[in-house]
Amino acid sequence: MRIIWLKGDYVGNRERQAQASKANCRLVISFHFNAHPNPRANGSEVFSNGKGDADYIAARLLHIITNILGTRSRGVKPAQGSRAGFLKFYHCPAVLLEPCFITNPEEANLVHDVQTVRRLGEAIADALVKWLPFDAVLGLDIGHKFKTSQPNDRGARCFYGDFEADHAEQLAKVVAASIQIRSAV
Ligand SMILES: [Zn+2]
Repeated sequence: MRIIWLKGDYVGNRERQAQASKANCRLVISFHFNAHPNPRANGSEVFSNGKGDADYIAARLLHIITNILGTRSRGVKPAQGSRAGFLKFYHCPAVLLEPCFITNPEEANLVHDVQTVRRLGEAIADALVKWLPFDAVLGLDIGHKFKTSQPNDRGARCFYGDFEADHAEQLAKVVAASIQIRSAV
């Protein structure tokens, strides 16, 4: 599997969507984390653009996330408007992960545990290697980072003071590294 990192804007100027089309991505995975003013808000959700097998992949990834983090499933949700609406502008299947709420102290603890992040990233990689053809191109997208129009955006603030984009990048990098190890023969 070949991985490409999608960078630039994805709302308005659709730079990431154009990159995915040009590279003929089989699947795009967008890494985010959830946030809410109420620190008790909790659970995992995955958005899908509904194209091809996106709903199936979203459901399977959600199952992996809740299984490893021990979080409550908030379900697979259709990309719409301000809730991941930009996914609809990818021509290929695209999903957006919100593994947990970084504004919830207990769930923030999960993503501040290196072992837990590694286990989750490896499990996602295992599944992708199993599902996708060996020559597939996978587009990975770190939410809120590398935007052309807002280079300083980092997304929501975590309970521990760092940011959504920091955690999204950590998880995405484990997924990418694990896929590369598993794809090397
Ligand atoms: Zn944090």
